[in-house]
Amino acid sequence: MRDDALLTRPCLEIDLEAIAANWRALARFTAPAECAAVVKADAYGLGLAPVARALARAGCRSFFVARPEEGAELRALLPEARIFVLDGLALRPAAFFLEARLEPVLGSPRDLHAWLAECRRTGTRAAAAVLVDTGLTRLGCDPAELVALESEARAAVALLVSHLACADEPAHPLNARQLARLKAVCPLFPRAKVSLAASSGIFLGPAFHFALVRPGAALYGVNPTPGRPNPMRPVVRLRAPVLHVHQLREAGSVGYGATFPTRPGMRIAVLPVGYADGYPRAAGDRATARIANHVVPVVGRVSMDLLTVDVSDVPPELVQPGTAVELLGAEFGVDALADAAGTIGYEILTRLGRRFERRYLSEE
Ligand SMILES: *Cc1c(COP(=O)(O)O)cnc(C)c1O
Repeated sequence: MRDDALLTRPCLEIDLEAIAANWRALARFTAPAECAAVVKADAYGLGLAPVARALARAGCRSFFVARPEEGAELRALLPEARIFVLDGLALRPAAFFLEARLEPVLGSPRDLHAWLAECRRTGTRAAAAVLVDTGLTRLGCDPAELVALESEARAAVALLVSHLACADEPAHPLNARQLARLKAVCPLFPRAKVSLAASSGIFLGPAFHFALVRPGAALYGVNPTPGRPNPMRPVVRLRAPVLHVHQLREAGSVGYGATFPTRPGMRIAVLPVGYADGYPRAAGDRATARIANHVVPVVGRVSMDLLTVDVSDVPPELVQPGTAVELLGAEFGVDALADAAGTIGYEILTRLGRRFERRYLSEE
C-alpha cells in the first residue's frame, strides 16, 4: 500500500482486491458449495457499489442484503445477480420484490403463501427461499411450522436457510444442535438447496457448508476464527493527519475527565478523528496507533471529533502537523480496535464514518 507521509484529512483506504481475494479464498475452501456474499448495511459500511462490483468481477453470483431497499439499490448495480433479502416480506409487499427481481428470505408460512400467491398471480415461476429458526430465536419459521406445510408449498422451496448463533465458538454445543435441527427438516424439501454457514460457520467444517455459504464479515477482513490467527486479508486502513503536537512543560492530564496523567517532557499529538467518526469512545487509553514503525498509545478519552496519542517515544522530526498516523491497518486492525473497545470487528466496520475521505484500492 502507498505510504504518503502527509495527509490533509483522515483517509479510509478500502482494498477491493483484498475483498476479492478473500471471496476467492472462501469459495475455494468451500467448493463445491457456492459462495455468496453478504453486502447488507452498505457492504458493512465499506460502500455497496464498489464492493458489490468487485465481488461480481471476482465471480460472485449470489448476494444477500438485509433490507428490501438495499436489494433494489443492488439490483440497479448488478442486473444479473441473484439477490436475497434477509428481512423477508414484512416491510414491503411481494410485488416490490418481484418488480426488482429480489428473493425475500421468507420467515413464516404466511409469508411463503403470500409469496407463492403473488408468483401465481403474475405468472412468475414459483421459487421461494425460506428461513428456518434452528435456535437463534430471531427471524424464521419454527421447524414444526415447516412440517405442517402442504406439499405444494414445500415443493416450491428452492433454498432453505438457517443461521448459527455461536459459530465463532467452535466448541459451543448449540452448533451441533442447530445442525441437527436443520438436517431434520431437509427431507421435507427434496428440491431445496440448503445454506447454513456465514463467515465463522464456514470454519466449523464441511458438514456446515451444504450447497451455499453466506460470508459477510470475513470478506471485509474481520477474523472469522476469534482466538486463532486471522485467515483473511486485511481490507481497511485508516490514517489521519496530526493536527497539533503538544510539548508538555509541566505535569497535567489529557482530555475530558483528566484520565491520563502527563509528565513534563511528554509529547502528545492530536488527530481529527473521534467517536462521531465511528472511532469508539471506549477505546480511549486502550487502543494503539502507528507512526512510521512506531507504535503509539491512544491516551485520554476519545472526544467527538478528536483523539490524542502519546508520541513521546517517536523522534520529533517524524511527528509534525500533517504527519499520517495509522489508526487501523495490518498491524492493528478492526478486531484489535474492537477488543480495545469491548466490541466486535463488525461494529467497528459498520460505524466507520462518512467524514473520512475514501480511497478504493485496485479499482478498475
Ligand atoms: C449478517 C448475516 C450473515 C453474514 O454474517 P457474517 O458473520 O458477517 O459472515 C449471514 N446470514 C445472515 C442471516 C445474516 O444476518
